[in-house]
Amino acid sequence: MSKNTLDQICDHKQIQGGFMLASLPETDLLSEEPDADGIDLWADNFSWDSIPGSYGCYAFYDPKVNETVYIGSACAVSHDVAQRGLRMRLRFYRGRGTRNKPTSTIQKVRNEYAKRKLLLRCWISENIGDCRKYEHDAIEKHKPLLNWIGTRSVTYEEHKDRKRKRSQQYRDRMAGTQYNPNKKKRCPHCKKTKKCSEYAKNRFKKLGVKSHCKQCEREKYAQQKGRSL
Ligand SMILES: [Zn+2]
Repeated sequence: MSKNTLDQICDHKQIQGGFMLASLPETDLLSEEPDADGIDLWADNFSWDSIPGSYGCYAFYDPKVNETVYIGSACAVSHDVAQRGLRMRLRFYRGRGTRNKPTSTIQKVRNEYAKRKLLLRCWISENIGDCRKYEHDAIEKHKPLLNWIGTRSVTYEEHKDRKRKRSQQYRDRMAGTQYNPNKKKRCPHCKKTKKCSEYAKNRFKKLGVKSHCKQCEREKYAQQKGRSL
């Protein structure tokens, strides 16, 4: 959260006469001893016994360079140990998953696994709240390649790329919309070619003006209001 946002919230709290909850101490999941480690989720000899039947956090990492690629949490609650928390979540990763879109995180993790064999480690947490807190702090701190803080399905780099492309497209579009009062433009309603100064301005349109001339617009509004000119 940026400092400005935080300040705004604090101001808001003061106005309301309330008090902000005390902030909890920061945690660092990756420096904690995992409850299971070095698991190859897609190996032929993989066994579900290697995954704890509990909720907790998990991380996919590249063992060669010790880079954490994705951090997640699994909080599903079930009486069936085989369908609980980490086991249930990791089932989705292991399944063939034809339902997964190529942009889904699960598919991205699989693609990354195909490139460089990722391994998995898991941490069991005492309760679901802790689980979320550890996950959140770890993502904020380590910013793993495939994580996007929040619920976005794109990584931070992809998001940046898209933003850059979009603003370039916008600039390209705007370059062709410079308003010039002497430029000629044909009105599709009255079929006359008139100067741009005869059109109402609209900076989002081509040439910076509306498509119909002022004359036609006036007539249109007059008609709508049931008045004659
Ligand atoms: Zn016209």
